[in-house]
Amino acid sequence: MKYVVRVEKKKNLVKVISDLGGEGVSKCIQCGSCMSVCPVTLIGFDHPNKKLFKFVQMGEEEVLLSDPSPWACVACGRCIEVCTQDVNPFSVYFALRRFQVKGFRIHPLAREAVGSIYESGHAIFVENEVEREKFGLPKVSSAARSEKDLEEIREILKSSAISDLGILPR
Ligand code: SF4
Ligand code: SF4
Repeated sequence: MKYVVRVEKKKNLVKVISDLGGEGVSKCIQCGSCMSVCPVTLIGFDHPNKKLFKFVQMGEEEVLLSDPSPWACVACGRCIEVCTQDVNPFSVYFALRRFQVKGFRIHPLAREAVGSIYESGHAIFVENEVEREKFGLPKVSSAARSEKDLEEIREILKSSAISDLGILPR
């Protein structure tokens, strides 16, 4: 009896993510240094950087399209400092964002961030004036406090490719 084994052909996602700006992803050796300092890991996302990079190397497209963690990156740059293989995990994360957007898989976290930038000028806007005052810290200047700055931010968003995605607040 003959058996036919079907092997699903997976995309070369290393090349796709590299072309989107995540050139270092093929160099990741899963050492975990980036995870030990990354706020995305600390707040408990399932697949913080090194895990997602493994999925890139394995060609697991569906996980990459649906995982929210790239949108939780706060661009602190800690991972770049500690990576011994010159991967630049931060750039790979941003390439993964582009990958999701190109696949029209825009996670609610991303919609929320874009909506917040449109409404307040900040992806994450924390009303922390009371706490700052308690510790004797000065007020922070903020786009949200200047109607003119906020209008400019909204105009930029409306004239950018983001407006084509239909996720700007109406
Ligand atoms: S520190 Fe660099 S090599 Fe190590 S897991 Fe993170 S990305 Fe991969
Ligand atoms: S830049 Fe992003 S991925 Fe890198 S440590 Fe900071 S939050 Fe994590």
